[in-house]
Amino acid sequence: MEERELIEALLKRLGGRFSAALGIELDGGDSGEIFKWFLASILYGARISETIASNTYREFERRGVLSPEEVLETGWDGLVEILDAGGYVRYDFKTATKLLEVMGNLQERFGGDLNQLHAQARDPQDLEAKLMGLGKGIGPTTANIFLRELRDVWEKADPLPQDLAVMAARNLGLVRAADRREILAELRAIWERCAPAGWKFADFEASLVRLGKDYCRRRQCEVCPLADHCRARR
Ligand code: SF4
Repeated sequence: MEERELIEALLKRLGGRFSAALGIELDGGDSGEIFKWFLASILYGARISETIASNTYREFERRGVLSPEEVLETGWDGLVEILDAGGYVRYDFKTATKLLEVMGNLQERFGGDLNQLHAQARDPQDLEAKLMGLGKGIGPTTANIFLRELRDVWEKADPLPQDLAVMAARNLGLVRAADRREILAELRAIWERCAPAGWKFADFEASLVRLGKDYCRRRQCEVCPLADHCRARR
């Protein structure tokens, strides 16, 4: 199977960036759009289904709560109401508290602008540390979700690929290395060889995350849309 054909099938069947699926446009580097994705990343970062996290983000959007100021003005009770309306019931109290802490720190330290946070970071590691330093609501998983879709938008956004993407990439026979940094380099090299027009590397990585999350991890080989391309299955 041609590598190019495999990559095209992956993107076509699994879809690209999670931010794009929510209608968030990150490519221009706009602070408002980056904040929307930050809010969505916090919701995706909990152990909760993608559907519930997406529905909850849409509740924030429907009510026009899409900036640090608006989150703070909404207050704890209002945030719990939005979270519950989106189905985020399991973590509603905890998440409302986390959102208030994170947004308060974002306002105080960076004037509410994540582009400022990026500008002040010395390097990729410092960028992750600054993000996680905003509060308990931003752990390594949330930071990774957020930053991986900002690759090629923020020059210092360079997180290592997460387990689900690595699992899918290995099953498809795309990578061989054990080290995460080398795996990232292997994926970048594939992308340079055969990137389909109109897609970004972050779309490729997101499609691998989807494949790993929805199929490989659950052993859904019988219904996997990439089964014909899978080396692990042969
Ligand atoms: S066929 Fe199975 S192992 Fe291969 S990519 Fe699909 S779910 Fe993963």
